[in-house]
Amino acid sequence: MRVCVIGAGPSGTAMLRAFASERAKGGEVPQVVCYEKQSDVGGLWNFSWRTGLDKNGEPVHGSMYHYLWSNGPKECLEFADYTFEEHFGKAIPSFPPRAVLYDYIRGRLDKAGVSDWIKLEHAVRDVSYDEAAKKFTVRVADLRTKGMPESAEEFDYVVCSSGHFSTPNVPEFPGFNEFNGRILHAHDFREATEFAGKSILIVGTSYSAEDIASQCYKYGVGHVHFTWRTRPMTFEWPENCTTHSLLTNITQDGTCSFKDGTTAKVDAIILCTGYLHHFPFISENLRLKTSNRLCVDNLYKGVVMETNHRMLYLGMQDQWFTFNMFDAQAWWVRDLMLGRIVVPDAVERATHFQAWRDREETLESDEDMFRFQGDYVKELIAATDYPSFDIDAVCEQFLAWEHNKHSDIMSFRDKPHRSVMTGTVAPVHHTPWLQALDDSMECYLKTP
Ligand code: FAD
Ligand code: NAP
Ligand code: MG
Repeated sequence: MRVCVIGAGPSGTAMLRAFASERAKGGEVPQVVCYEKQSDVGGLWNFSWRTGLDKNGEPVHGSMYHYLWSNGPKECLEFADYTFEEHFGKAIPSFPPRAVLYDYIRGRLDKAGVSDWIKLEHAVRDVSYDEAAKKFTVRVADLRTKGMPESAEEFDYVVCSSGHFSTPNVPEFPGFNEFNGRILHAHDFREATEFAGKSILIVGTSYSAEDIASQCYKYGVGHVHFTWRTRPMTFEWPENCTTHSLLTNITQDGTCSFKDGTTAKVDAIILCTGYLHHFPFISENLRLKTSNRLCVDNLYKGVVMETNHRMLYLGMQDQWFTFNMFDAQAWWVRDLMLGRIVVPDAVERATHFQAWRDREETLESDEDMFRFQGDYVKELIAATDYPSFDIDAVCEQFLAWEHNKHSDIMSFRDKPHRSVMTGTVAPVHHTPWLQALDDSMECYLKTP
């Protein structure tokens, strides 16, 4: 049996670790080939300054930026089979900068000893399925040889773990063509100091909006104007931040008009308007089509493609849980491929899907949403040997985090959380986040 894994980010490497774990227990595992188009593993956590196209002419995958620190407590994403304490040899504070989380992902992968399963700088160009032969053909370009010639390999299963926060959703507003300032999407944001002293307009109200505004504030922005479509954020922002309803127009010199009749003058616009699930490298009949939601369309158990049960997807949900949810999914699809889990008939699948969808439609608060996703993770873990952990206790950490954010959006990262894996309460970082301008791993790990 041969398995193709697309992407070596947290989801793809979870898949590799799931098979490595089976192998370590003496089980037989299929031949696994993981194609990663970038020159390193880590997915979004593999930072690059590049925007637009990369050195090989591929769309840049990265959406992360300088000074990005984890936005949720690390205790909520901790691997159940590899704790932060095991990796760093000591307890560390709760909101690590990007480089620290990259190091943790890397450490877990190195421990699994599967680097020879990964082909770096290999971009998947097409995935198709032959019903008669029951085989996938995966066309791959080796970017080190400029993609020529392309190879085609056969597989019994394909696991798509290519992420869905890389293809920007880019709306246009009246006046954009005339405005003489800079307009960028969060996907291309790299450096907050660029906006020091400037007046900026942030479009959107979700995590990118919240975090990019906070970064710009931390690094000396002049004024932040927020504009919302459905509902505004409810945090108490500092004095140099103003919330307006939806943007209706911007003039050449940067005067914005909003639905509520207010105006503001800005130098730049950052579109924090989310991303598209975009898989041009998968043939139409196997391609996932969904919006960014907790119960994604067309996937049984959030992972099995309705139209082909050998086409599997990891990490396609909107995310409260991240690394340990990808693990839970990877262990589950591993057991499906190993024949331990059987996909039920269409009626049972539809009933199962509809029950989750019905519940999804009742969700109102953030708490409803992370509890929903927690229950989903529980359901997956119950079916495999992924180490079970106290998911309700993780939800309590999310709840405390939400509370801290609403008390003070600029200091929630200074608050410690408790690991549900080790029971340790994290030490407090040596410098409050707002004053911590050095986000290197060396500086972060100085906390005793
Ligand atoms: P990705 O990390 O996107 O990895 C997908 C991989 O697939 C990439 O390496 C890519 O190069 C590769 N790939 C794509 N297409 C192809 C192809 N055709 N051929 C070969 N390879 C391909 N989560 C948290 O838990 N905490 C945070 O603080 C946090 N911050 C975030 C900040 C930003 C700005 C964004 C956008 C997301 C953040 N996330 C955070 C969520 C993030 O989605 C997950 O942490 C995680 O990176 C998702 O892993 P993934 O493997 O599913 O996808
Ligand atoms: P998102 O959660 O999908 O949110 C998209 C936002 O864009 C929503 O507020 C939406 O508003 C708005 N929007 C979309 N189209 C619009 C339009 N035409 N006009 C006005 N508003 C529009 O995307 P995201 O915020 O980029 O987050 C993506 C992921 O990145 C999340 O997993 C997040 O956790 C992660 N992230 C983490 C960090 C960190 O600190 N570590 C930083 C950034 C991002 P409506 O409500 O009106 O639809
Ligand atoms: Mg179990």
